[in-house]
Amino acid sequence: GLSNKLQDTFKKLRGKGKLTEKDIKEATREIKIALLEADVNFKVVKDFIKKINERAVGVEVLQSLTPGQQVIKIVNDELTSLMGKENTKLEFSKKGITPIMLVGLQGAGKTTTGGKLANLLKEKGKKVLLVACDVYRPAAIKQLQVLGQQISVDVFSLGDKESPVQIAKKAIEHAEHNLYDVVIVDTAGRLHVDEQLMDELYNIKNEIEPVEILLNVDAMTGQDAVTVAESFNEKLDITGIIMTKLDGDTRGGAALSITAVTGKHIKFVGMGEKIADLEPFYPDRMASRILGMGDVLSLIEKAQANFDEQKALELQEKIRKQEFTLVDFKEQMQQMKSMGSLSDILQMMPGANTKALQGLDMSDKELVKTEAIIDSMTEAERLNPDIINASRRKRIAQGSGTRVQDVNKLLKGFEQSRKMMKQLSSMGGKKMSKFKLP
Ligand code: GDP
Ligand code: MG
Repeated sequence: GLSNKLQDTFKKLRGKGKLTEKDIKEATREIKIALLEADVNFKVVKDFIKKINERAVGVEVLQSLTPGQQVIKIVNDELTSLMGKENTKLEFSKKGITPIMLVGLQGAGKTTTGGKLANLLKEKGKKVLLVACDVYRPAAIKQLQVLGQQISVDVFSLGDKESPVQIAKKAIEHAEHNLYDVVIVDTAGRLHVDEQLMDELYNIKNEIEPVEILLNVDAMTGQDAVTVAESFNEKLDITGIIMTKLDGDTRGGAALSITAVTGKHIKFVGMGEKIADLEPFYPDRMASRILGMGDVLSLIEKAQANFDEQKALELQEKIRKQEFTLVDFKEQMQQMKSMGSLSDILQMMPGANTKALQGLDMSDKELVKTEAIIDSMTEAERLNPDIINASRRKRIAQGSGTRVQDVNKLLKGFEQSRKMMKQLSSMGGKKMSKFKLP
């Protein structure tokens, strides 16, 4: 699937300390193929790749700490904004009833979603009325009634003798008299978009003036879902999309293109057939789900927010020249207070050996202690910790108000990170890719 393909591409990038334009070209070519294979709209892919190229080349110029991972971040950012950036909530009327219309092709999941949505709103304390406006299939009314019973939500039906427009109108009147908060109108669908259906939906819309017209599309239909959304949007000016059956879609193409093509946001996704399987849609979560690397992304974000680029370059240089001393270690402590831990940063570097770092305790309390200990050392000791023998350790412990064990622990932790840095700096570019990355 898309996830695996993208991860393979990123694996190659993450093994590199520096990216060339050729690396980026190759990576974006692979991303492009992966997206097209996932049934993402061609034009959307084209624009997407253009943006990635522009931004990724900039990264190379900056020579950031880990360019490969920054490309992952860029792809993640762009995927997220492709899907609308943030979760878009349902709108509600300021006062009175909030009419919601569910529209879509036959089998898209309207009726099921109606039940799910009614349940969700009921749990939020709303008084909800479901309305059966699919009068063409005898089983459709029954289906909604069964659902309503299951979740204890009232269902308004006038059978199949009245027109859908009349049913919708009377349902709103009924809701007004009985003080409902939300009215969810389940409409009919067809196998294909047709004029008659669109006219009917348009008339219902005019009659009840819904706050939300939510188009249900089946994620498994890929590009067809996008085409369908364009037609419905053109005629009805929908307010949002509910993408159903995302649990069965391994490609993700529809979710990735539909907002870019229609300009309308996905508000919910259907993740199964059960009542509870309706979730608000979060573009950022979907993006990291597609990339399959949520942990790495949050780490990169943290580092980007707090880590001074220049300082990072200096540190890298010191690591390369194996000049990392306790003075640098202490300086790192200051930075770490704002960003997490040295082990996080080291783990982000290509070829990092995560096991070696587990002994480092970077809690706030520990940092204060560490600073005190390093402050109690002489300059010579800080630059060359090898000279710190037993009697020096005792003196340092006394001077810093700590115990000899604490001094030992710090020196051991420092030694571990230094060892790891040596390891990192002794690795050639080619060798790096052989190491398993975090
Ligand atoms: P409608 O014709 O648009 O009203 O579609 P229905 O609500 O009758 O749903 C058609 C079929 O899709 C039913 O078998 C539902 O159980 C199924 N369905 C609806 N939503 C989802 C979903 O999110 N995931 C899965 N796996 N099935 C769904
Ligand atoms: Mg239905």
